[in-house]
Amino acid sequence: MRAENSVMVYIQQEGGKTAEVSLELVSKARELADELGVPVSAALFGEEVSGEVPRIAALGADVVCLVEDPRLRFYTPIPYSKLMIRVIKDYKPQIVLYGATTGGRDLAPRVASNLRVGLTADCTDLKIGDHTQKDREYRNILYQIRPAFGGNIIATIVCPEHKPQMATVREGVMRMNAPDNTRKAEILRLPASLGEGDFPTEILERVLEEKTVNLKGANIIVSGGMGVGTRENFALIRSLAEVLGGEVGASRAAVDAGLIGKEHQVGQTGTTVRPKLYIACGISGAIQHRAGMDASARIIAVNTDPEAPIFSIAQYGIVGDLSEVIPRMIKACKARV
Ligand SMILES: Cc1cc2nc3c(=O)[nH]c(=O)nc-3n(C[C@H](O)[C@H](O)[C@H](O)COP(=O)(O)OP(=O)(O)OC[C@H]3O[C@@H](n4cnc5c(N)ncnc54)[C@H](O)[C@@H]3O)c2cc1C
Repeated sequence: MRAENSVMVYIQQEGGKTAEVSLELVSKARELADELGVPVSAALFGEEVSGEVPRIAALGADVVCLVEDPRLRFYTPIPYSKLMIRVIKDYKPQIVLYGATTGGRDLAPRVASNLRVGLTADCTDLKIGDHTQKDREYRNILYQIRPAFGGNIIATIVCPEHKPQMATVREGVMRMNAPDNTRKAEILRLPASLGEGDFPTEILERVLEEKTVNLKGANIIVSGGMGVGTRENFALIRSLAEVLGGEVGASRAAVDAGLIGKEHQVGQTGTTVRPKLYIACGISGAIQHRAGMDASARIIAVNTDPEAPIFSIAQYGIVGDLSEVIPRMIKACKARV
């Protein structure tokens, strides 16, 4: 099995561990590749990263283009983009996907400008379809779908004339497949072939801030918006989250107003979440907020305004003041434990 014409995923890794968004993208690539009848390939670079191949294969990759070199321990733009460009030129995938992470957003434009191909940033969906342009019909091209104009429209972008078609994709929006541990991937082990001049910068020390909020992994999220009113009132949201064993989320307006930290933000420019239960308190339900939470299995909304748009996607709506409703919810939850 070779990587030609494949759907390729750039595998982002940190300390030898694959980023979750890359695993989500391998799952999505599998779906797209099945529709196209082509293989899924993965580009994996790092120091000692071959141990990740089984995980990537289990989610759908057929081929892994692997480069291992101690100098690739940490992502730096020049060597990584050189390798990615070389892999794409050699194996000619028709689609290449990157996570819209800081690293993916740094790497993908460098590759796109070198190869003179298009790149759509921050996609929230990908599909295969046909496209007609100036009487010319393009079959089976990649629809790169993302919110545009401040989230007021959903745009479908195509780059039919140049291959590969490339996109960065938001974290958390693609569903991860259930792993099939019987799947195996062919490893194409490639030499780094990089000179000292390809490493103009040296990383002397890395300081990683510990993540204190895990919105993506939470089964229950209690989110507060501008209706919470003050930083102190967020204690109510935190208490409800605590009794339910959930995480605390927030709208961007609440974050911008300094009511809570940015790491709690849910939405188009925050984290995309899909918990079993999402409780939106004092959140109007603007499209940019909904884009990050409307795939939640159950939504409860608490809002004083019966016309608030959040009610249109909530399975349960409570019209009322959150300062009265939430204490009653906490009391009821405590009574059940
Ligand atoms: C490019 C772009 C990206 C964006 N990205 C995001 C994003 O990622 N996430 C996000 O959330 N937003 C985002 N926004 C902002 C978004 O458009 C909204 O402005 C924001 O979501 C509104 O937040 P809110 O619902 O908390 O505030 P508001 O719209 O002010 O709503 C407050 C709600 O609280 C209710 N309320 C008031 N008092 C009470 C009370 N005592 N009890 C109960 N309810 C009460 C009100 O009826 C109202 O519905 C983005 C905007 C743009 C342009």
